[in-house]
Amino acid sequence: MVKKQIAILGGGPAGLTAAESLSSLGHTVTVYEAMPTVARKFLLAGKSGLNITHSEDYDGFASRFGASNARLRDALDGFEPSAVRAWAAGLGAETFVGSSGRVFPTAMKASPLLRAWLRRLEAQGVRILTRHRWLGFSDEGYVIATPEGANVIQPDAALLALGGKSWPRLGSDAGWLPWLRAKGIAVDDFQPANCGFDVDWSDYLRQQFSGEPVKSVAATSTAGTIPGEFVVTRHGIEGSLVYAHAAALRKSLAAGQTTTLDVDLTPGRAQDRIARALGRQDPKASLSNRLRKAAGIDGVKAALLRELAGAGKPPPVAIC
Ligand SMILES: Cc1cc2nc3c(=O)[nH]c(=O)nc-3n(C[C@H](O)[C@H](O)[C@H](O)COP(=O)(O)OP(=O)(O)OC[C@H]3O[C@@H](n4cnc5c(N)ncnc54)[C@H](O)[C@@H]3O)c2cc1C
Repeated sequence: MVKKQIAILGGGPAGLTAAESLSSLGHTVTVYEAMPTVARKFLLAGKSGLNITHSEDYDGFASRFGASNARLRDALDGFEPSAVRAWAAGLGAETFVGSSGRVFPTAMKASPLLRAWLRRLEAQGVRILTRHRWLGFSDEGYVIATPEGANVIQPDAALLALGGKSWPRLGSDAGWLPWLRAKGIAVDDFQPANCGFDVDWSDYLRQQFSGEPVKSVAATSTAGTIPGEFVVTRHGIEGSLVYAHAAALRKSLAAGQTTTLDVDLTPGRAQDRIARALGRQDPKASLSNRLRKAAGIDGVKAALLRELAGAGKPPPVAIC
């Protein structure tokens, strides 16, 4: 194989992964990163627990990418969730499966993994140049702003790993979008991917329950039925289960359609079983007590039930 000089523009996890795999094939790899350090968003991602993959059955996992399922399948087959866990373990980051089925490093955060990863890349000969911002194309090549002034590089190949548009203060600001479009390269408009939704909660729910996790539930939208958990926030709903449905909900809302996220507060318990259990409760007991005893619904789950299913209540408006 002919060894190439490869420039990777962007030093987030995508760029570092490409650097690891290309350098392991013997190519000479340089990563150009605009920020003073690499992988800032990856580090932030680890602040609330770095979810590196999911433990569900592989075919189910590989079907979670909606319209991109077919396009991504080869890449996923080449780096299955078990391989992701083995990769992390190879960097000294053992992982565990959380109650939601998601997989985290035992240390939860990203920094130990990143430190070991950067050591491996250095050992493989990858050069990482921080404070090196790609500024676009010139007739000669790729213009890079460096602390010493602008440079033009002419690698054999360049790989763009510049991230999306969210959290621009961490580096990915999508500044490159017009440069690619000017070259006639089609780029889809950016859309929020993992986003929460606004819900017009009552003052009571907002004051008493914002910040409360709603655990061990299942939610259904056009994306399918997915088990997991979410959080009630001051303004609506957030969290991994909401994110799993976000693209499907956003698409319907953007098309001007009404969309519904059905939440099963007691997955695995059939409706008639719950109805029978409720029927056996003392009719003089409060509704809260009957719900708790018959269906295990209390706390934030009971509050949601009252908020959303009370007589005559309109469905809440949800906006991405
Ligand atoms: C709060 C939060 C929590 C998250 N939690 C998780 C999680 O638990 N699990 C998970 O898998 N994901 C999580 N994510 C998402 C994850 O962080 C991103 O999917 C991931 O960082 C994307 O990697 P990337 O390499 O494609 O892009 P980025 O991480 O955005 O990296 C792109 C890099 O390119 C650099 N760059 C941009 N423009 C230029 C330029 N012109 N020249 C040179 N360099 C440039 C940027 O500075 C940046 O370092 C979370 C994100 C956030 C914000």
